[in-house]
Amino acid sequence: MPQKVENYYNYIYAGRIHSRRHRRRKRIGVWILTLFIILLIALLFYIVFTKKQPKSVPANAGGSAISVSEPAEEADTSSRATESAEPSHTTRIIDGRTYIDGILVVNKSYPLPATYDPGLDPEALSAFYRMQKDASDDGLFLYITSGYRSYAEQVAQYNIHVQNKGKDYADKVSARPGFSEHQSGLSMDINSTEDSFANTEEARWIAENCVKYGFIVRFPKDKEYITGYAYEPWHIRYVGIQNAEKISESGLCLEEYLGIKSVYAD
Ligand SMILES: [Zn+2]
Repeated sequence: MPQKVENYYNYIYAGRIHSRRHRRRKRIGVWILTLFIILLIALLFYIVFTKKQPKSVPANAGGSAISVSEPAEEADTSSRATESAEPSHTTRIIDGRTYIDGILVVNKSYPLPATYDPGLDPEALSAFYRMQKDASDDGLFLYITSGYRSYAEQVAQYNIHVQNKGKDYADKVSARPGFSEHQSGLSMDINSTEDSFANTEEARWIAENCVKYGFIVRFPKDKEYITGYAYEPWHIRYVGIQNAEKISESGLCLEEYLGIKSVYAD
């Protein structure tokens, strides 16, 4: 083969080797990049998953806290998927008291121990005073008819009703001892406890404004079958401003909001 032609073939051959090597190097580069992306995704999943794990349980001053999960919370992954439809709740029992999402629950399903004797909550009381002042600026006088009621006082009140008209009647108009929200120190009856109170300016003002001070009207109209109590426009419950706003915006009563019932066991 003439020298020139041979050189030419050598040139072509070298070029082929070169491009083959180049392609191989390129392929290895793609593999490394893919591997790197897979590792990165795995790392991301790991971070997200470990962050989602145990929710921190706030330390409570003196009191044996037991964390109890609602059935809806058992499968964390499934509850996350259906979060928008069915929010999960955190239930904690502290010395016989039930807190759901941090809210102390007292109703026909969740009693307080007879020994729980906190008196009227100072934060709730000062919130009431702020509300009372603003109502008076609007020309209305609000006052507490019934605030804190101890277990012993509830025993006396309930028994009077039982003696007068029997247990069925007593259950209609009064809470059984341990089941009254007034024992929590977070509830108040404002002004009158007569049904006619519903048609007063004061009742309208409370319904419209109590949320701003951290209260909810605890037993709303048309929710009797859920709360276990007839409409009580005078009975307000302190839950803090944030909770009150959320509950109010939801349009639900507390039982619906927390996904619980209010029914005596017997
Ligand atoms: Zn009340």
